[in-house]
Amino acid sequence: LSPVPSDIEISRAQTPKAVDVLAKEIGLLADEIEIYGKSKAKVRLSVLERFKDQADGKYVLVAGITPTPLGEGKSTVTIGLVQALTAHLNVNSFACLRQPSQGPTFGVKGGAAGGGYAQIIPMEEFNLHLTGDIHAITAANNLLAAAIDTRILHENTQTDKALYNRLVPLVNGVREFSEIQLARLKKLGINKTDPSTLTEEEVSKFARLSIDPSTITWQRVLDTNDRFLRKITIGQGNTEKGYSRQAQFDIAVASEIMAVLALTDSLADMKARLGRMVVASDKSGQPVTADDLGVTGALTVLMKDAIKPNLMQTLEGTPVFVHAGPFANIAHGNSSVLADKIALKLVGEEGFVVTEAGFGADIGMEKFFNIKCRASGLVPDVVVLVATVRALKMHGGGPSVTAGVPLKKEYTEENIQLVADGCCNLQKQIQIAQLFGVPVVVALNVFKTDTRAEIDLVCELAKRAGAFDAVPCYHWSVGGKGSVDLARAVREAASKRSRFQFLYDVQGFGNLPICMAKTHLSLSHQPDKKGVPRDFILPISDVRASIGAGFIYPLVGTMSTMPGLPTRPCFYDIDLDTETEQVKGLF
Ligand code: ADP
Repeated sequence: LSPVPSDIEISRAQTPKAVDVLAKEIGLLADEIEIYGKSKAKVRLSVLERFKDQADGKYVLVAGITPTPLGEGKSTVTIGLVQALTAHLNVNSFACLRQPSQGPTFGVKGGAAGGGYAQIIPMEEFNLHLTGDIHAITAANNLLAAAIDTRILHENTQTDKALYNRLVPLVNGVREFSEIQLARLKKLGINKTDPSTLTEEEVSKFARLSIDPSTITWQRVLDTNDRFLRKITIGQGNTEKGYSRQAQFDIAVASEIMAVLALTDSLADMKARLGRMVVASDKSGQPVTADDLGVTGALTVLMKDAIKPNLMQTLEGTPVFVHAGPFANIAHGNSSVLADKIALKLVGEEGFVVTEAGFGADIGMEKFFNIKCRASGLVPDVVVLVATVRALKMHGGGPSVTAGVPLKKEYTEENIQLVADGCCNLQKQIQIAQLFGVPVVVALNVFKTDTRAEIDLVCELAKRAGAFDAVPCYHWSVGGKGSVDLARAVREAASKRSRFQFLYDVQGFGNLPICMAKTHLSLSHQPDKKGVPRDFILPISDVRASIGAGFIYPLVGTMSTMPGLPTRPCFYDIDLDTETEQVKGLF
């Protein structure tokens, strides 16, 4: 339709097919799905066992150039591309996307289900609650937080004997010590590896974790943009006997448990990763883990359903997995390894799985390759690099772009010079992708104000910079048929052999890769430096570790892990029609 109706109007106008019908169409058996309502289902991991001898399909990553704060359409391109592959080229395909945090949905950015005629439906179910995975993460995260402070209180207010009586089952229940526990035993002068041989005195010593409160790195979390929780004081009740300290809340998707969910490949692996998560140091400087606190089993129980990918569909009925959504700076910002692995089996050898990496290619794609692919062992075949004329104009020196403020005329009228000058950012991102040895197809996500001359110029310069192909896409305004050229280009690029390589070997703390916690609004650390900034020195203020998830994250400047609400938040527009039970105002 012209003009294109609002995202929620388009979403509501299409009735999704029943999810059990969709599941059957894509080859899932009835006992491999758990249905949530009419249009969502969790897929059991047993499906991987059934398909273990089946070859994987082609693996396509969608990343973007350095964006404006409005987003340049990575989700929209991902959805448009699978709609084009399936409905218009008759190729099995699957999209794998992140589950959005509810913080931005009610805050400044709105929903993340794509947009226009390239959406996941029902978009309100995608953007709110889904099947409760983020709530499960919140519960698990906060159980661990409660365990830490409670343990400090009990250790400090109880005798050795009382502690022994209560905690001995914890040690006796352990069949094998973890590496970190063995290191702690050694430090305590106990050179034993078999838990059953510890004496009562040794158990008491071992049970006393002696956590140094000033070293606690594990925060409480909530899936709401609540800036007033950025710094809080906990333990002020008389019952906490003065064990009060400064703490903070992070947004739930910043929890390390979310990153664990995204990188794990089985229940056993998830349990091991949860157990390894380091939450603080003890008074002698040794790491204290979730295993040390005896909480690993309970965390795994809370996460046992969250580990199963969530099946939904696009407006055109293409299957989609929505699973995991780790914060894109202090974590790696990519959807789950498990969703990708299952989808790669379900599409068959000739099919395509299109997965999206958060942020610009210098961060999202880099983390996809060096962290996610390293964890999964999967090899990508093609990178689709999303660009828009508006972002290129911004890189070419156009005025700043702010969410909620109408775009200036530089962005709504033809301006060839700005586009030409801004293509340096696109060229740089193409070069970065090529370093990894994977062919790049540039998807120019066309907006209605873009002119033919601007579109042709971008495609021409992208190809000159080494892109395998560069094509304009119109999925937002017309659906999958608007991205058929992109689908053809991706299919062609995937027929070449990927020469994928990591850009560095793992090193340091437990052989872990690096996750740069850096702004996505510039190739440098300064969000206002557009284009291709040169000769800058990246300031690293701290280096932290997510041992359970499996990466080290250097902080480039300060990173807010709890967003705030703007003066005019999206929640002003959100309402429920109590007659029809329809959600209004989501976009
Ligand atoms: P990203 O995934 O890169 O953050 P999205 O796909 O979520 O970006 O798109 C950002 C916003 O821009 C969404 O609200 C989407 O509906 C809108 N959008 C994307 N492409 C177009 C387009 N071609 N024309 C108009 N609006 C678009």
